[in-house]
Amino acid sequence: MARMSKDDSTLFLSAPVNALIEGIYKENTSLREILEQGDLGLGTLNDLDGELMIVDGRAWKISGKGQVEEVSKDALTPFACVTHFKCLSQDSITEPMEYALFQAFLERLLPSPNMMMALKIEGLFEQVRTRSVPRQECYRPLVEVTKNQPTFDFANIEGTLVGFYTPPFLSSLCVPGFHLHFLAKNGRSGGHLLSCRPAKAVVSVQLLRYLRVNLPMTLDFMTLDFQRDTKKDLRIAETEPGKK
Ligand SMILES: [Zn+2]
Repeated sequence: MARMSKDDSTLFLSAPVNALIEGIYKENTSLREILEQGDLGLGTLNDLDGELMIVDGRAWKISGKGQVEEVSKDALTPFACVTHFKCLSQDSITEPMEYALFQAFLERLLPSPNMMMALKIEGLFEQVRTRSVPRQECYRPLVEVTKNQPTFDFANIEGTLVGFYTPPFLSSLCVPGFHLHFLAKNGRSGGHLLSCRPAKAVVSVQLLRYLRVNLPMTLDFMTLDFQRDTKKDLRIAETEPGKK
């Protein structure tokens, strides 16, 4: 078995994802704190104000209207996951791939479905479909918010996908399966990935052996009842609207 150096490969979560699923959209963790824990990752911002994407140590927000802006280190998040990304292996996509084949391709990179993995995928995409969550004034569960989520379609676009694979047994902490966010190379568009068709891409991956979870010391978090089974909500909230 390949040995990994002991300081490596930790996924940091600013809160368990279940809190976000239950509608806790404010946890006041600063991007400054998040960026100390990693240079690649994703999440959202306080009040569920858009999709967050962190790549090469810079944080970007894709708003509910699809606009992209760099996020200041003072911005606050209720949920973000990051790692200090080190590419441990790289594969290439050299011809156009339907989304189902792309998913199968990514699954083959996993040595086991019980491991965590960070991914960075740079390339040209024939098609990309994303969504972005709109800022919330009053707090509804995530599954309600994403019912009417704005989606965006792009064709023949260069860009980067970043994100994680999380095993199903960690689903109360982090979105299970593959969870990827997209940012166009021209910095004008992006969002939470719903589907894509890569034409040519380099896929860099890192296995993550350790998990570090912050439990927020906010009244909302400390008084939330986590009894409800949120697995179904999570599945609906993170995939195409209308599916399942
Ligand atoms: Zn997302």
